Amino acid sequence: MRRAPGRSFRWGPLIVACVSVSLSAQAAELDWRKLGDQTAELLADVLRIDTTNPPGSETAAANAFARRLAAEGIAAEVIESAPGRGNLYARLPGRGSGRPVILLSHLDVVPADARTWRMAPFAGTREGSFVYGRGALDCKGIGAVELMTMVAVKRSGEPLDRDLILLATADEETGGKAGAGWLVQHRPDVVANGEYCINEGDHIHVLADGRKVVQVGVGEKTPFWVKLVARGDAGHGSTPPSQTAVTRLIRALNKIRRYRTPIHLVRPVETYFAALAPLEKEPLRTRLAHLAVSLDDPIFLAEFARNPRQNALIRNTITPTVLEGSPKTNVIPAEASAHLDCRLLPGEKPSDFLDQLRDVVGDDSISIETLLSFPASSSDADSGLVAAIRRMAAQELGGAPVVPSVTPGFTDSHYLREHGVASYGFVPFVLSEDEEKTVHGTNERVSIENLRSGVRRLVSVLRALPAEPPR
Ligand SMILES: [Zn+2]
Repeated sequence: MRRAPGRSFRWGPLIVACVSVSLSAQAAELDWRKLGDQTAELLADVLRIDTTNPPGSETAAANAFARRLAAEGIAAEVIESAPGRGNLYARLPGRGSGRPVILLSHLDVVPADARTWRMAPFAGTREGSFVYGRGALDCKGIGAVELMTMVAVKRSGEPLDRDLILLATADEETGGKAGAGWLVQHRPDVVANGEYCINEGDHIHVLADGRKVVQVGVGEKTPFWVKLVARGDAGHGSTPPSQTAVTRLIRALNKIRRYRTPIHLVRPVETYFAALAPLEKEPLRTRLAHLAVSLDDPIFLAEFARNPRQNALIRNTITPTVLEGSPKTNVIPAEASAHLDCRLLPGEKPSDFLDQLRDVVGDDSISIETLLSFPASSSDADSGLVAAIRRMAAQELGGAPVVPSVTPGFTDSHYLREHGVASYGFVPFVLSEDEEKTVHGTNERVSIENLRSGVRRLVSVLRALPAEPPR
């Protein structure tokens, strides 16, 4: 049932401070420094819990988050999709004049090779003004900031218009089937009726000249992973027939290698580069502002596509990765296979792309099996949430421009989008290129300044989010 819209004054938490509180029922003064320090402590604690996926074993980390919330009087639930695969869920009630906002992060991390690190990757080391550890940025640092954002709202004594939902899930790094994917299927109540989701995906960038750009991921390319399988007679390597499974596979892969996927400028990508254009000097400024026209110029196109990230944003890509054939030099295998990591632009239909791929291979004896596929999706770049991020940027970041972006990689956001929740990649951290490189790399770290400001920025976004008009 929907609660009655509109503001209601809550006496309890405000009564102590009511001498100084204005009649507009403003939030109690928050100690941002303390919140930041507590965020760093919480992060160091969860970085000490090894959640390398596989196997993940995220329950201990979910429990650590739940204990921190319990200490603030916020009830949390740890939901296991399988033994040890814990997902954290908490909900802070709002005034009911808007659909809920979800803060999403994940608890699992990619492996870390300790030999290449300066410090132990699972020690939660605090050194200088940074917290180090696998997951500091991807994604426990984000989870800690989102959790302390919920704590900050609770401590302020001023509820949000909407319910605030916190989700820290398992299994993102291997596709989310035991995490966000499992939750939307088996516990849809945790995301039910959500209007917006804030997730990893993009962040606040610093340009070479020091200017900041707030990038908000509105779309992602989608993975379409396939396996090519060629078959033939098995035999001895000393007496080869004219065609074998391996030679058929090589022929198919060579056709794929020569094939250039067509240029396709989708709307969210066009909008993204147009929004970046004013930050560039001429003639690039005009070129980016009118990218559809610019890409018709073969010289500009060649230059633009030389950057692998830019190239990935204007076409579907096909990358051969896994190869399998015979395990023995003198044995001709009956089967040889290759995995292709294909990435499709928002709006592309996987079935159309599969037809194209079959045409390119042009060999009916080669089967193409789908390993992973879901529809490509994107969220509205002009939504109330993006407007709230603009307001935050005006207040907290000196009016830094907000650019709706499309990213070549993918996150759990698609599970939420498929469930009708507009999902945005927005990490409230200002990251240099050096810091970005530590994600999935060595000496992963986050600055304490980012943890502190991150909580403040997220609270600012949530407060700026307009309530839904009563229906
Ligand atoms: Zn991540």
